Amino acid sequence: MAGLPALAYAGSMIGIRYFRAAVFLLAALAVGGLLYGTYRYAYEQIVAELHERAKSRLKIVVANLQGELDKYSFQPKLLAREPYVHDALAHPLNRRLVDRANTALAQVNGVTGALATYLMDRSGTTIASSNWALETSFVGKNFSFRPYFHQALEGRLGRFFALGTTSGERGYYFSFPVRIAGEIKGVVVVKMAVTLLEQTWQSEADEFVALDENGIIFLSTEPSWVFKAFHPLEEAKRNALEEGRQYAGRRLNNLEITHVSGQPLVRLAGSTLGETEDDRVATAPTSYVLASKTIPAGWKVMVLANAGEIGPRVRLALLVVGFMAFSAVLVVVNIVQRRRRLTERMAMEEQARAQLEATVADRTRDLSEAVERLSDEVAERQRTEDHLCKTQEELIQASKLAALGNLSAGLSHELNQPLTAIRNYSENARVYLDRGNADMALSNLGRIAEMSDRMARIIKNLRTFARNETVGVRPTRLLFAIRNAIALLEAEIEKAGVTVVLEQGDETIAVKGGEVRLQQVFVNLISNALDAMANVPERRLFIAVVADEQIAEVKLRDTGTGVDPSVIDRVFDPFVTTKDVGKGTGLGLSITFGIIKQFGGTISVQNSDEGGAEFKVRLLRAERHQEAAE
Ligand code: ADP
Repeated sequence: MAGLPALAYAGSMIGIRYFRAAVFLLAALAVGGLLYGTYRYAYEQIVAELHERAKSRLKIVVANLQGELDKYSFQPKLLAREPYVHDALAHPLNRRLVDRANTALAQVNGVTGALATYLMDRSGTTIASSNWALETSFVGKNFSFRPYFHQALEGRLGRFFALGTTSGERGYYFSFPVRIAGEIKGVVVVKMAVTLLEQTWQSEADEFVALDENGIIFLSTEPSWVFKAFHPLEEAKRNALEEGRQYAGRRLNNLEITHVSGQPLVRLAGSTLGETEDDRVATAPTSYVLASKTIPAGWKVMVLANAGEIGPRVRLALLVVGFMAFSAVLVVVNIVQRRRRLTERMAMEEQARAQLEATVADRTRDLSEAVERLSDEVAERQRTEDHLCKTQEELIQASKLAALGNLSAGLSHELNQPLTAIRNYSENARVYLDRGNADMALSNLGRIAEMSDRMARIIKNLRTFARNETVGVRPTRLLFAIRNAIALLEAEIEKAGVTVVLEQGDETIAVKGGEVRLQQVFVNLISNALDAMANVPERRLFIAVVADEQIAEVKLRDTGTGVDPSVIDRVFDPFVTTKDVGKGTGLGLSITFGIIKQFGGTISVQNSDEGGAEFKVRLLRAERHQEAAE
């Protein structure tokens, strides 16, 4: 059975452990989720921001480009109406007309800032050109392979990007048919420079590119990207393009770029191929956020905003949020720990309080049990005391009766003697009366009266002694009690041959006592003294009374044997006696002691230096005796 709580405790501990593990896991998941969410959010926000930047730059680029293109796209149309163009076409062999055309075209070209402005006949051969005077003159050259030529021959505005075969310069060509009498007789071409935009690009971090209709980068602020395919080219198409004259035999490598799916994001390899396989241009691997727009010319213009800042910014956001989460976790852990400590402390206090209460309850129970026991004991003592009191009263009475028994022999002698004397005196009185001797008769009658007085006194003493005095303390004349005791024992004293010397004190001294009991005290003490002096030659008993304000002391010193030292410490105990069986009871002094105690007094004994015992009875003084009602 004792194992059960332990099992439950272990169970609850395991439960707590699982709970903690679960809480820890949840917290870890929450922090993980928060960090992931932060990562996603920050990433998307920064990408969106960069995308916005790219888009706004793109707008500017496109507007500039469009402006340039618009500026040049009208040129061939206007030139196609010029008379010198018509004249030169009509008379290509007329040197003067051709020269005039050459000069005019050079002038126009100078004003517009184009790379070249020139006129071709229907066969594609250049008749007149703005660069006629230069080494790189187009005059006499046939450009019929150029698509813009065919586009113009078809009667529409031709546009084309190409790397100049003669000049080696990247150019954009605008062409327009020259109609004479409704018939297309030739084509006017304006070749504009496209590198201006590259040169005026302001940003260090961001790049822009323009792709032609083949997806080949022909404009780029990053020189190494020019003539690269932005989207990977199929081998057949690459070969075809490389063989065409549009790129003047340049190798068209792929830009090593990967698109991040679902994002306007591209990633560029750490190095990119140059003109040849061996010619690698090392660049840092970079990511860009892309914004693109296809303009009416058929080009795709793109701005690539450098995404290099995404990483650091996302990391910073993660750091900040991570730090906040860490702080929050710390705060929570702190709060939890504080609460746990508080709970533990409260539990401990509760336990201590319960323990204290239990201890107090135990003590209280012990105390009330003790109180109960004590009151039982008190009641028991009270009963015993009552019983003792009663027993003592009975004993006093019994001992008195015993004393009376002892006295009876003496008494009968005491009473018989006067009786005999009375009889004699009455006989004598009658004789004297018969003889007429009235005086003698009277004298005898007086003697008779004395005798009967004495008898009356003896009897009164006896009656008093035998009376059962009620318990209680009242003022009692000390010397009266002593004298009565002596009187009661008069016959005994005489018989024992003892001289009692009473040192007369103040007759009126009253003590707290009771007449009968006090008399008995002295009867007992005097009787013992008589016994002790039975076998000694000098038999005297000295009784002296001294008193101060509070105490009256009676000293009784005899000339007897003294108290046997073996019993002197116990003489006031009941049944302590040195007398023969049948003679002593050992109760006399014990009763005496009890009576004096009742009165609030004390009794002590010592053997005097002269030999014999000396008893000292000390009693409390009372108010002057008011004639006791005993
Ligand atoms: P009891 O007289 O019946 O023996 P008590 O109590 O009166 O009983 O006395 C006890 C004992 O004290 C006596 O037996 C005696 O030995 C001793 N004793 C008492 N009074 C005296 C005395 N005055 N002188 C010597 N011994 C005494």
